[in-house]
Amino acid sequence: MSLTHTFQTEAHQLFDQLVAWRRDFHRHPELGFQEIRTATVVAEHLRSLGLEVTTGVGKTGVVAVVEADTLPPDAPTVLVRFDMDALPIQEENELPYRSQTPGVMHACGHDGHTAIGMGVAQLLNQHRNQLAGRVKLVFQPAEEGLGGAQAMIAEGVLAPPTPQASFGIHLWSRLPLNTLVIQPGPLMAGADRVDLVVNGVGGHGAMPHETVDAVVVASQIVLAWQTIVSRNIDPTTPTVITVGSFHAGTICNVIAARAELSCSIRSFDIAVRDQLVHRMRAVAEGVCAAYGATCELIFSPAVLPTINSEAGAALMRKVGTQLVGASQIATIPPAMVGEDMSEFLMRAPGCYALVGASDPAGPLHSPHHSPTFDFDERMLPTAVALLASTAATYLADPTTR
Ligand SMILES: [Zn+2]
Ligand SMILES: [Zn+2]
Repeated sequence: MSLTHTFQTEAHQLFDQLVAWRRDFHRHPELGFQEIRTATVVAEHLRSLGLEVTTGVGKTGVVAVVEADTLPPDAPTVLVRFDMDALPIQEENELPYRSQTPGVMHACGHDGHTAIGMGVAQLLNQHRNQLAGRVKLVFQPAEEGLGGAQAMIAEGVLAPPTPQASFGIHLWSRLPLNTLVIQPGPLMAGADRVDLVVNGVGGHGAMPHETVDAVVVASQIVLAWQTIVSRNIDPTTPTVITVGSFHAGTICNVIAARAELSCSIRSFDIAVRDQLVHRMRAVAEGVCAAYGATCELIFSPAVLPTINSEAGAALMRKVGTQLVGASQIATIPPAMVGEDMSEFLMRAPGCYALVGASDPAGPLHSPHHSPTFDFDERMLPTAVALLASTAATYLADPTTR
């Protein structure tokens, strides 16, 4: 029996345990950088396997390395990443394992990811003497927009043994159960922030000729920015500029001296992202100059695009095909959401896959980040086997690198 099929069998034998872990995390959700209980449960499990565990990496991250008892010094290292954080959402599900913490909920499935990571650790450790290298298991805090991956990288998660490749999954409630999305190239977008302050001249609402109205100028900028995506960017290149917040003024009869805009911009390419920022600045400054206002634009890079390597996707696809069959491997148009797995993929190229978690025979599941989100737990063993096998195959077969 191949190691992949051994992992598949053992992952299914672990099903009840995976569900118990997942439901425990679901009952006790913790927000980004506050995953103290979650990290403690993970670290205790890893230590119970006999692994050496590092905690507090990027505040609440947990890291352990699984390796054979004897390895050559030049043995390869592969990173597998699991995110652990919940969201500030009040759960509306009436489930026996519903959140016990008011206003906090695992509404993205990271409870499942954490349980999957514990299963991957257990299976790989059981077969560590069949590994041809090291597997660095990374339990990451704060994926939901708070920079958990960057925090772990800043605190040395990629230090020796330095991984040459990285892999991960997101369970996906809108994809049929155990269908796998595995594709080379872009999967998710880079997401960055642009803030703009427009400075005009305030005054009486009845004497506009003595003012420079920041509301009017900022409104022109919001509309002019919409032409960047439609008129400046190649129409075959997906991009988004969303002005998510617009604040100005205090009362109806006072002309505002200042307006503040806050925007999310999305793209799949750093050169395109830079083009968006360059045009946003030029348009804002040009509009301000025309009306006698001034402005200050601040660009804050946040999340890189999630891009899978050819080799990483081919390897994961091969393993996935052995697990679920070619008919259950799919591709999707890249999504404009952001995901900080990109931080690992940019430094250690590999693949991020989606694992279908919707019951095809069940009711339509709620989308991710909704107060009624839930997923089909029968995806858990598939994800465990996929990640354990991908890591082991990467180490064993130099042609996959
Ligand atoms: Zn999410
Ligand atoms: Zn997520």
